[in-house]
Amino acid sequence: MKILIVEDEPKTGRYLSQGLAEAGYVADLANHGADGLHLASQGSYDLLILDVMLPGLSGWQILQTLRERGVPTPVLFLTARDQVEDRVKGLELGADDYLVKPFSFAELLARVRIILRRGQNSPADAALRVADLELDLLRRRATRAGQRVDLTAKEFGLLELLMRRHGEVLPRSLIASQVWDMNFDSDTNVIEVAMRRLRMKVDDGHTVKLIQTVRGMGYVLETPEEP
Ligand code: CA
Repeated sequence: MKILIVEDEPKTGRYLSQGLAEAGYVADLANHGADGLHLASQGSYDLLILDVMLPGLSGWQILQTLRERGVPTPVLFLTARDQVEDRVKGLELGADDYLVKPFSFAELLARVRIILRRGQNSPADAALRVADLELDLLRRRATRAGQRVDLTAKEFGLLELLMRRHGEVLPRSLIASQVWDMNFDSDTNVIEVAMRRLRMKVDDGHTVKLIQTVRGMGYVLETPEEP
């Protein structure tokens, strides 16, 4: 899940992007209204977190322009001003939620999860299931055959990607960009290491191995065919 933060106050911006990254999201940060609009217009984000008062373009103007261009990405507004007319204005323009500064990170994270879940259209999407593996997106919990599987935030993100696209071979470059927000041109083995740990947690002790390496291509999560 990719989130764009547009916030001109450096401390708040860093705090948000670090916190969201630790929670397993890919977070990009823009500190100028025009840069934010440019990035958001590409439509590759699952959520935008917009400060209202920004240099260049205000958060309102960004939202308005995006909607005019037909970009439907959900928007959470941040603002220091706690006035009724601001809330009304934001919601009229099509904002999904509104958070008044100062706010706790826990509250922001809760709002982010609610908006992202809403964007998945159906309540059934609150959980992903492949064979006896289940990922509860609401409680951020994984179970295999009813047994709890403890995952780090990154492992959770990795498993979510594999499960959403199960049956599909995912190249390392795609995993790198979706889960780590990095380009796959470095010789890092971070993906292999994380994948090995994830496979141990998900597949060890089970006859059916769900996560497979496809040599030279990438990884796939699938239920092996019955013989
Ligand atoms: Ca500001």
